[in-house]
Amino acid sequence: MIRIGIPRALLYYQYYPMWQTFFQELGAEVVVSPPTSEAILSSGSSRVVAETCLPVKAFLGHVIYLVEKCDYIFIPAIRSVKYKVYNCSKFLGLPDMTKAVIPESPPILDIEIDINKGKRTLYQAIYQLGRHFTWSPLKVKRASIAAWQAHLNYRQLMAESYLTPPQAIERISGTSDPESKLPSSNPASPQATVAIIGHPYLLYDEYINHRLIHRLEQAHNRVLTPEMVTAPELESAIIRLVGRAYWTYEEEVVGAGEHYLKSGTDGIIGIMAFGCGPDSLMMDMVHRQATSLRVTPFMNLTLEEHTAEAGIVTRLEAFLDMIYRKKRKQVCV
Ligand code: SF4
Repeated sequence: MIRIGIPRALLYYQYYPMWQTFFQELGAEVVVSPPTSEAILSSGSSRVVAETCLPVKAFLGHVIYLVEKCDYIFIPAIRSVKYKVYNCSKFLGLPDMTKAVIPESPPILDIEIDINKGKRTLYQAIYQLGRHFTWSPLKVKRASIAAWQAHLNYRQLMAESYLTPPQAIERISGTSDPESKLPSSNPASPQATVAIIGHPYLLYDEYINHRLIHRLEQAHNRVLTPEMVTAPELESAIIRLVGRAYWTYEEEVVGAGEHYLKSGTDGIIGIMAFGCGPDSLMMDMVHRQATSLRVTPFMNLTLEEHTAEAGIVTRLEAFLDMIYRKKRKQVCV
């Protein structure tokens, strides 16, 4: 059986159930790298210049982990999944960058996804990918339909059941990851409701963000994430704040930020990667909106390789203290 490696980083959190279904339907075995660790991050960092953003360094570390554990590694070059809405350049160059800096990598399956080139080009790219496993276009078509359905089910599960991507993946696969430290549910009577916004690969990589969700829930707060907002709600929030999205991630940053600013959460934490151009623009828009509305406290956390855990904990405790004080004051008035 052909083994396909999928790095547990970057777009894994958005598309893993879809990719897994596609490959399994075509008879392949899927191998996923474990959660990020110090060894994984430092092996990835050692291959690129210091200015490379943290999520890409982690991604490369996951690829290195998968060397000799699979026959191919799946690294799509995703340019655009919505008409005239684009991913950052790092995603476009990911297969080429990986080949250049990890020459020992197994062969890379590097399908290009760009919805702007039309559906025909997209279908051709999917068939090319499927041809590594079968010559039957019908089988590839069936696998694609099953994969898309798996993706829709995954999105629906997160929005309806208020689950984070790792929790939804665990529920879909029926397995509980022993290394996952995410709590299984929000507290019944929370001290406060805190929304966190940002890319899934920052929000759900517990090593990179120093277990932020876990810390918030341990302090008896209810945590809301961008995946818990429906697609139409995110879209209308983007229209309200910026008119039209240019970046793919505007949903998880600008859309979720605007939505939670208007929906009565007690505080919002924006998480971004140091050196990320799109993040610095989008997070600033949410920050400005929070400042002008003057209703919901907003804190921005910038993560990089050397971010100290103690610094994150101190800022988080101070932010939560402020929220609790504000809530107590509102009760007294
Ligand atoms: S959007 Fe930012 S954090 Fe994500 S890959 Fe691009 S530069 Fe890195």
